[in-house]
Amino acid sequence: MGAPSFPLPPGSTVGIVGGGQLGRMMALAAARLGFNVAVLAREADSPAGRVSAREIVGGYGDPAALRQLAEISDVVTFEFENVPGAAIAALEADGYRVAPPGRALTVSQDRVTEKSFLNAHGLPTVAFAVIDSAADLPHALQKLGAPALLKTRREGYDGKGQAWVTNAVDEDSAFVHIDRRPAILEARAPFVRELSIIAARGRDGAMAAYPLAENQHEHGVLRRSIAPAEVSPALAAEAERIAFTLMGALDYVGVIGVELFELADGSLLVNEFAPRVHNTGHWTADGCQVDQFEQHIRAVAGWPLGPTAPLARVEMLNLLGDEADAWPTLAADPTARLWLYGKGDAEPGRKMGHINRLTPL
Ligand code: AMP
Repeated sequence: MGAPSFPLPPGSTVGIVGGGQLGRMMALAAARLGFNVAVLAREADSPAGRVSAREIVGGYGDPAALRQLAEISDVVTFEFENVPGAAIAALEADGYRVAPPGRALTVSQDRVTEKSFLNAHGLPTVAFAVIDSAADLPHALQKLGAPALLKTRREGYDGKGQAWVTNAVDEDSAFVHIDRRPAILEARAPFVRELSIIAARGRDGAMAAYPLAENQHEHGVLRRSIAPAEVSPALAAEAERIAFTLMGALDYVGVIGVELFELADGSLLVNEFAPRVHNTGHWTADGCQVDQFEQHIRAVAGWPLGPTAPLARVEMLNLLGDEADAWPTLAADPTARLWLYGKGDAEPGRKMGHINRLTPL
């Protein structure tokens, strides 16, 4: 791989670490702009691999597999936030072009580091305490007030690795529930709504944000997003300030997803951010001229960012487990734009696809 100069011309190769549905939709967007796509997936025949020119099978933290991907790519990106930050930093150190920066991964992979980073840049979160052992819980619970939420510091997603702690009796069982792993105790966010903002930063430092989405979860998994969310101009401006400040602080390139809690007084707290395209941004694929997937490819390839204005109001519904078996009905429904991820095994709760329902703005 020679050192690429940006913007990458069509015909260049975008390497994607991760073979899931986010990689698949990124690969489709990249192909549309004339790029070749190579994917590093843990298993052959991955959702992303099946729509890409090349698929390398290997672990996301495997230096040899990552290097093999980087060698055939003009830029490497990722669809998965648990790619070891150190492995990506090693690629950067060797002169390979990677975006978003490895630092965004290392910060977001540890909930304590993430919240400390956000707070240090003036971005509000719930109060929290570091929990290294069950012995830390009584004092932390007293400080933060009950109930509080115990989460593993690393590798929690879709509500996994979390337990509410209400009183002293819960303390030990909560810690056992998260396998006694290093943890964070978070004060309860008394939110009235969960919102998210999807934003992007280009290689030239230009930034753009999509309108906010309102998100509803079931059992810790995203069920439904509605966008654009009905929010005041002041709240929208604050969400944009949060996303733009965060991206500037990380010297970010690519699309980022920032999950927010809206409190009763209209103020916002950051729950967490994902340094990648985001499930709550799937609505943009049918609701915006340039969707989050194309936007991400544009950013990492050094192209100008595209417009983010909404063309329609969108309700995005995730199809979990066997819900995707209803594809004949959904395909016959003129109000539903159907996206299926090509996954074989419809385990309960697994994200198999989604639909976007559009109504005029
Ligand atoms: P997370 O894995 O951090 O995204 O959390 C999953 C879900 O748990 C969120 O979407 C919220 O619904 C809920 N949640 C997370 N943190 C808190 C908190 N500090 N207070 C109240 N609810 C929370």
